[in-house]
Amino acid sequence: MTKASSSQARRLNGGMRRVDLKDVQLGSNDIGRKINRDIVLQLIRTAQPLSRADLARLSGLQRSTVSEIADQLLGEGWICEGPNLRTARGRHPIMLSLNDALAILAVDIHPGQAVVAMVDLNGRILTSSTLPVGKDPARAAKSIVSSLKRLRDSFPNKSLEGIGVSVPGRISAKTQRLVFAPNLGWRDFDLKHAIEEEMGLTAEVENAANSSLISELWFGRMDGVRNAALITVSEGVGAGILANGALVRGHDGAAGEFGHIPLAASEQLCGCGQVGCWETVASNSAAVRYYAELAPASSGLTFQELLNLFVEGDPNATKALEKQARFLGKGLRMLAYAFSPEVVLVAGAMVSIWEKIAPIIEKELSNPALPGIPPRLQPTYEGGIARLRGAAATLLQRHSGEHADRRVSVPRRLA
Ligand SMILES: [Zn+2]
Repeated sequence: MTKASSSQARRLNGGMRRVDLKDVQLGSNDIGRKINRDIVLQLIRTAQPLSRADLARLSGLQRSTVSEIADQLLGEGWICEGPNLRTARGRHPIMLSLNDALAILAVDIHPGQAVVAMVDLNGRILTSSTLPVGKDPARAAKSIVSSLKRLRDSFPNKSLEGIGVSVPGRISAKTQRLVFAPNLGWRDFDLKHAIEEEMGLTAEVENAANSSLISELWFGRMDGVRNAALITVSEGVGAGILANGALVRGHDGAAGEFGHIPLAASEQLCGCGQVGCWETVASNSAAVRYYAELAPASSGLTFQELLNLFVEGDPNATKALEKQARFLGKGLRMLAYAFSPEVVLVAGAMVSIWEKIAPIIEKELSNPALPGIPPRLQPTYEGGIARLRGAAATLLQRHSGEHADRRVSVPRRLA
């Protein structure tokens, strides 16, 4: 494994039980320090409040190492010292917790609208708002910045670590420049710097499916999982792949465009200019189109309205969503054959009817049986906001890991 991919695996894995030491290059004190730091931070996040002695016992690290890391995390504002606890023997260990005053601004961009939110270090959405965005990325960036400034000003007591942005498109791995976002109608735009220059905070831009996957690893229930596929189902279908513990990015971040692989004998034109792409038959837009074919008077229906009709028992809504689910399952077979994931995750509004829709996806995915152990199919944690929480997770993951020394601006800290 290369140095870059092993460090990426470590960044993704983050937690103590997720670190696979055989992937770590020996002889690098720097990598070792960062792994230990990730372990301590994840332990505090998942089991806070903890004393330094608790951390040493739970991590297996030496007490002096734990103290050194704790001091560093305190100095950077990630954690804070809480009330001292009185023990049976009368000692008063100082407890450590995540710094509630530290927060992240998160942005999730969709065609036509974006959601901006204030998110805490545990992935809780403190507040959010929605704004319209159009086909011009520079104007959209200005609107997003205005909303972010309002959000920042409404939380004067929060210290901001930075801004995470989820985009339904491909991002250059080197520059984070947006390369290709057919459903937004955006191409070749430097969203990262457009936001950073106005906000004076670091922005980290990531493909929406990748960020959702990072969110599952950071906030979710993926301990020990090293092979997973995640699809975001909205106006299009995005895919993120975790293979052997590392995100698959391909040459300059272009990997994962499964939504644009022609899958169906369909003449439906895709936003990318081709016909018959997977997303033209499996996206939420496809489900709305299926419904309109069955009920022509229903023009202008949103996907959420279609879900509501489904819940009310509308037979055409049922047919439309079941057809979408069958095409999702067919496309997921492609991912399952290609990567043999342990888990297949689905993110998006359809997760709200998961119990009804999952058996249909499962049937297409696993019948006829796949070679090897079949993947577990599951919704992302709070699927409807996976992308938004993913934006925050991307920022956290990069700032607590190897990118910590690459900040372009100094975040506001508590005095
Ligand atoms: Zn396409």
